[in-house]
Amino acid sequence: MTDTVLVINSGSSSIKYQLVDPAAGTALASGLVERIGEPAGRVVHKQGAQTTERETAVADHGEGLRIVTSLFDEVGPSLAEANVVAVGHRVVMGGRYYDGPVRVDEDVLATIERLSPLAPLHNPANLTGIRVARELFPDVPHVAVFDTAFFRNLPDDAATYALDREVAEQYSVRRYGAHGTSHQYVSTRAAEILGRDLAELRTVVLHLGNGASASAVKGGHAVDTSMGLTPLEGLVMGTRTGDIDPAVVFHLARNAGMSIDEIDDLFNKRSGLKGLTGVNDLRELHDLVAAGDSAARVGLDVYTHRLRKYIGAYAAVMGGLDVLAFTAGVGENDDVVRADAVRGLEFLGVQIDPELNAGRMKEAKVISPAGARVAVLVVPTNEELAIARQALAQL
Ligand code: AMP
Repeated sequence: MTDTVLVINSGSSSIKYQLVDPAAGTALASGLVERIGEPAGRVVHKQGAQTTERETAVADHGEGLRIVTSLFDEVGPSLAEANVVAVGHRVVMGGRYYDGPVRVDEDVLATIERLSPLAPLHNPANLTGIRVARELFPDVPHVAVFDTAFFRNLPDDAATYALDREVAEQYSVRRYGAHGTSHQYVSTRAAEILGRDLAELRTVVLHLGNGASASAVKGGHAVDTSMGLTPLEGLVMGTRTGDIDPAVVFHLARNAGMSIDEIDDLFNKRSGLKGLTGVNDLRELHDLVAAGDSAARVGLDVYTHRLRKYIGAYAAVMGGLDVLAFTAGVGENDDVVRADAVRGLEFLGVQIDPELNAGRMKEAKVISPAGARVAVLVVPTNEELAIARQALAQL
């Protein structure tokens, strides 16, 4: 019987999970526990075409995972018979410690906890998920897969802020990146699809979801990425500013009387496309643009201007460009954004064929014209599969 891996992504009030067959590259079941700790929680479990929903209060992550295991028992597939050989956990911040997956032990748990000040919304929740999963599945190895691992060895020139060195060292201020599992998966898949040697390619990956990031991958190694100390830096996102003059913080603190927490909330949750246009979903944004909403037009232009800027910057960082890959919710589904992201970049050899680009992509596809200097692709990301494979490789 084939080996399977249970992949768990634990948030502050949610648990996402997937039972993965890493060899076949398929999900045998998946689901989501939402609103943990709130009066009205919800659990959704999917197996094939069958979806089972439970509306029930979920006191904590432990209870959430127990409900999930009981759904596996009732609806299937049976975990007892699924030959689960590992549990893979998504962990957001691995800091300077991890450049790949690691088997969880007490030291690893302590390190993830120690890194919590760098990812206060994520690491504590990830840790809780690992602890309850280890109690429920004590007989299999648990593996932590870090969002930052692919960027752990960024060259110093890309990872270092031009900040007083002692302050930076004392407070671990440097660029860690995020979405690394996706950037690694997509850059590797793009080379496979093109039938080319990753070692010879200069690739830009645009992971455009509600959170969004760009990476420059040279010969399979990340040499730059747009997210920094936290996922706030870089591209314009659904609700985050991306790059902004840090002096805006001083200005708002001094002149608008805003506290640090209020500015944090403004930059992370009330800015980006949402702040510019009132909506953070690209589908709604296009509707507003079509209806003649001028703020929506400007918002979309700011969004794609930033994309072009990063593509150009990363081509410069790598001394050229061979592959440009779009992924995640916007990158896979939004042909208008893809076309606009490469507008005017013919001088770099970047071109898209409008017919190949049209529509949403469920499968990987090359969208540049035959013979183009740069291969432009859409590559659907699959972080769960990547986590499952990395977990399996640790055994
Ligand atoms: P993700 O964070 O990767 O799940 O991406 C979520 C985002 O993808 C949403 O906020 C939308 O902006 C975008 N999205 C999803 N479906 C579509 C679609 N059909 N067309 C355009 N954008 C989409």
